[in-house]
Amino acid sequence: MNEEEFQQRLQLIREDITRACVRACRKLEDVELMGVTKKVSLETIMIACRAGLTLFGENKVQEGKLKVQDAPSLSRWHMIGHLQSNKVRDAVSFFSMIHSVDTVTLAQDINKWSERLGRRPQVLIEVNTSGEASKYGVSPAEVEALAVMINSMPRLELCGLMTMAPYCEDSERARPYFARLREIRDTLNQRLGFGLPVLSMGMSGDFPVAVEEGATLIRIGTRLFGERTY
Ligand SMILES: *Cc1c(COP(=O)(O)O)cnc(C)c1O
Repeated sequence: MNEEEFQQRLQLIREDITRACVRACRKLEDVELMGVTKKVSLETIMIACRAGLTLFGENKVQEGKLKVQDAPSLSRWHMIGHLQSNKVRDAVSFFSMIHSVDTVTLAQDINKWSERLGRRPQVLIEVNTSGEASKYGVSPAEVEALAVMINSMPRLELCGLMTMAPYCEDSERARPYFARLREIRDTLNQRLGFGLPVLSMGMSGDFPVAVEEGATLIRIGTRLFGERTY
């Protein structure tokens, strides 16, 4: 990937975000673009930084931590993948936000390590809005209890919710899952009286729909960096 190709890809995505904001009467500055860099080289990440992208996401702690250490210091890094308890220490050390909190035990582990390491990470609760067995995340019915627990943990800053819609060629079919996450968030805001501003939802195939439904943070890999080869 060269600078020019990356800038072109970035430009096209920004245009799509802008159009979705216009359709939904939303402000462009309320939607942040994250570059998902799994399997992406540091060289390409540097190109992305120079093009003005500052927020990156990784779904594996080990892969991410190497990049975080070498990336420009103004870049911000979020952990977006499922987190195992033996990776919590590194996740807390290297990432400023964790999108994938879905059990009380995991939240307690993150809180414990944050205390020891003197950190105060931002966290999101991952919600399984589709009910697919293959997906991580708490069920919609369990979100409130987990939110209350996390909010009582002194080292964690609960900022919002995250979801992944089922993959489908037709992105319209993802809409109900994004709408669901927003509704869950709105209900929580009312019932608990603390704000949960962040809605992390939308990927390469479905982000315009996610923006229309209220996404504040979209996680884009393939459309920014090309197909991943495993
Ligand atoms: C890989 C990944 C993405 C980005 O997916 P693309 O379809 O490549 O844009 C977003 N969120 C999570 C949690 C991921 O693992």
